[in-house]
Amino acid sequence: QIKTQTQVEQVTETLQVKQIEATTERASAAFVILTRNKDLKDLRETLIQLEDRFNRKYHYPYVFLNNEPFSDEFKDKISKVVSGSAEFGLIPVEHWSYPEWINQTKAAEVRKDMAERKVIYGGHESYRHMCRYESGFFFRHPLMDKYKWYWRVEPGVKFACDIDYDPFMYMQENNKKYGFTISLKEYEATVPTLWNTTMDYMKKRKDLIPETNLMDFVTKDDGNYNLCHFWSNFEIASLDFLRSEQYLSYFDYLDKEGGFFYERWGDAPVHSLAVAMFLNKNQVHWFEDIGYYHGPLWNCPKGKANDKCWCPEEDSIETKSPHWSCTLKYVALPDPK
Ligand code: GDP
Ligand code: MN
Repeated sequence: QIKTQTQVEQVTETLQVKQIEATTERASAAFVILTRNKDLKDLRETLIQLEDRFNRKYHYPYVFLNNEPFSDEFKDKISKVVSGSAEFGLIPVEHWSYPEWINQTKAAEVRKDMAERKVIYGGHESYRHMCRYESGFFFRHPLMDKYKWYWRVEPGVKFACDIDYDPFMYMQENNKKYGFTISLKEYEATVPTLWNTTMDYMKKRKDLIPETNLMDFVTKDDGNYNLCHFWSNFEIASLDFLRSEQYLSYFDYLDKEGGFFYERWGDAPVHSLAVAMFLNKNQVHWFEDIGYYHGPLWNCPKGKANDKCWCPEEDSIETKSPHWSCTLKYVALPDPK
């Protein structure tokens, strides 16, 4: 199957390409995985499952991204477990550092305070760069330029069910823009001003907000944020959506406000608020049939759809933790007229 093994020159420092001939009609799509050298073992576990359950039949390519150069061992061992091409990209420093308008002293004080208050990842500096990168930059990495669709994967996640169709083609053929497996409520302490900032943005950019959208998914009866979001460690979505004027203007607005550093805004609520503002329910898809685990939560198919799974259906978040999950709320929303 492996046709050529070439070294391709790119703006990226480390890059390795293994080309595989496609056997079926495929979408212009890739897996995108932000990861570190130390994640090698967890990532191999994940990729072997993903290949076994899906990609051995489709050979979609992989893009691995890192803010530090990937080691030769990492590239070698990862290339051996994937059946699609593997490209390893270095993140440009401008995408993983403080913008000039950020007051780094203030950012450090916030981290200290949030660590003392035991906010999850509150004291963590690199986590903030990660969230900002996943919010605003991964889709602008040169290695992603040639694709229209992405499937985000993280080291350590599990895939429990046979996926016997192509989710990318499903998205494309059904005019979907954003697909998720798990939705849940965010920790409020990480996003105290994200909602108000988003409301300010919406007032300023009325011209970019469609009449029919999914704001009901994220809004409480009193009009405030209900903390619901799609869990972004799994996403099958449109790169054109993230590259749109709408999404980019929203990201820029948030970035200027500084909440990635002065609070701890996650890429999940940021993506989700953008989906809620700019898309309607027909453009979003719950991959109910994809058995997916990211600690500590499952999306696990029920009934007949569980036949080719190893996850217990009663473990699925919307069954096990209905108050933490937002998926049934999502399902109950009316279809757009
Ligand atoms: P959590 O899911 O919110 O607990 O966060 P994770 O630790 O899983 O990080 C989210 C994603 O970003 C995963 O794919 C990690 O591998 C990746 N990641 C987190 N921090 C870093 C970092 O400092 N460098 C790189 N290259 N990847 C990171
Ligand atoms: Mn994770």
